[in-house]
Amino acid sequence: MSGAECLFCKIIEKKVTAIIVHEDESSLAFRDINPQAPTHILIVPKKHMDDLRGMNNADREGIGHLFLVAQQIAEKLNLLKNGYRMVINNGRDAGQTVSHVHVHLLAGRRFSWPPG
Ligand code: 5GP
Ligand code: ZN
Repeated sequence: MSGAECLFCKIIEKKVTAIIVHEDESSLAFRDINPQAPTHILIVPKKHMDDLRGMNNADREGIGHLFLVAQQIAEKLNLLKNGYRMVINNGRDAGQTVSHVHVHLLAGRRFSWPPG
């Protein structure tokens, strides 16, 4: 999928509305429309990439930045004490439904393991 038809690119361009919780030069974080936990936030790179299988050396900083943003949001929302889960679904079998790399930040309840 190219960036032009991509839902998350449209959210980044503010053509589709979302509840934004963080924005900087290279990333955007917004609330998931169908939350699976009391806190469910998606953190995306502004540069379109279908999924992590397309990652190369040049993406190290951009992808690594998403983890730092997750930690900053967790701090801001008081999630550090009880903890949080980060999930990245890559491709069909992982259950990826939107082809733009995104980190799920989930918190506010106990999660089971292994995942479904
Ligand atoms: P995936 O299944 O690809 O790992 O995650 C995609 C996520 O995007 C899902 O959790 C889904 O609820 C969320 N999502 C789908 N459409 C929208 C939308 O229009 N706005 C927001 N905020 N989230 C969306
Ligand atoms: Zn995109």
